[in-house]
Amino acid sequence: MSLFFSVIPVAEAIRILTSAAAPGGTEEIPLGEGLHRVLSADVPSDTDIPGFTRSVVDGYGVRAADTTGAGDAVPSMLRWMGTVPMGGVPDRAVAPGECLYVPTGAVLPDGADAVVMVEHTEQARDLVLIRRPVAKGENVLARGEDYPRGGMVLPKGRRLRPQDLGVLAAAGRSRILVFRQPRVGIISTGNELVPVTAFPSASQVRDVNSSLCAGFLQEHGCVPRCFGIVKDEQGLLRAALDRALFECDAVLVSGGSSKDARDHCASAIAERGEVLAHGIALQPGKPTILGQVQGKPVIGLPGHPASAYIVLRALVRPLIGVMAGGLPPERRVGAHLAENIPSPKGREDWVRVRLEGDLARPVFGKSGLLNTLAASDGVVVVPAEREGMEAGEVVEVILW
Ligand code: AMP
Ligand code: MG
Repeated sequence: MSLFFSVIPVAEAIRILTSAAAPGGTEEIPLGEGLHRVLSADVPSDTDIPGFTRSVVDGYGVRAADTTGAGDAVPSMLRWMGTVPMGGVPDRAVAPGECLYVPTGAVLPDGADAVVMVEHTEQARDLVLIRRPVAKGENVLARGEDYPRGGMVLPKGRRLRPQDLGVLAAAGRSRILVFRQPRVGIISTGNELVPVTAFPSASQVRDVNSSLCAGFLQEHGCVPRCFGIVKDEQGLLRAALDRALFECDAVLVSGGSSKDARDHCASAIAERGEVLAHGIALQPGKPTILGQVQGKPVIGLPGHPASAYIVLRALVRPLIGVMAGGLPPERRVGAHLAENIPSPKGREDWVRVRLEGDLARPVFGKSGLLNTLAASDGVVVVPAEREGMEAGEVVEVILW
């Protein structure tokens, strides 16, 4: 008989968990360490980008009006007055009837308002034939056109990608303000568990969840701290929880999260703080505990690694979103369901699927299996109000 007389909906669990958390502090770091960090403040540029009006092609800086009507039959003829050096300023302006050679990225001389690509010209000594007309501003990037000085280049909350680091470099940000990475403790509980370095005896199981949780946390911008394996004894778990809470902003406890007499997680949390919810309308993942101790979230994860992972994706991910100030993007693809998925009404089902072209094939299996998790590309979520999904239906796959 299930000991879970009442379970709460997933959305309610997320609400409870995210309101039990707050963003951590901020810190200043070198730009070179900024990849995947989250900006804690808007970043303005300290200069116009670009800082000068420049050519975007190799060609001749001209007055656009001088090229009106130019063509192969009747080219415009301009006087070549020299070349603008890269990294230098033009030594003269362009007067009517004149042009200067301007390489890509060099300063557009005063007087010129466009650049004719070199491919559309022909130079003979100091005369240049222009075979195509250009409009004002053509092949030119105006000063401040990319980002004006003082204008925001990136907003608070941006999780930095390589191209963002480039933009910050252009804006002169050698140091950046980011949210501190949440430190999250991991405790694995179970008398049967042994560390990965041990060869398990006939009744032992290697600790999978510490590694799984650590990987998930790193992927989501947290710093994992493993507090080892704890036997199923409330006192030992309480002591481990105290150690983890001392050092961390949140704690994940895996195993012992059910409502069985041997399951000490809820009691240990209640001894130190508060159990906010126990039992979620989520499959897999029902025996999950949401708690708070010393203002820090403590989550009791089911011991089955596949269930633990689903709870991390479904509930812990949004929690980290609050604590870390931002999250890696969730990748989703549309697909047709390859087989029917049965699912009772009233609970959210996270069904692992494998992608086969545009087909999403459910990977069914017993809940203790690891291979279903490793073999799947993502999940299809069957909402609580639906009674299963049918083969052929268009679904959204959340990719791992
Ligand atoms: P529990 O949630 O403690 O009732 O455990 C449910 C199942 O998950 C049992 O078969 C446990 O042996 C297994 N399990 C619990 N914790 C872990 C872990 N850290 N690594 C691998 N399996 C685990
Ligand atoms: Mg256990």
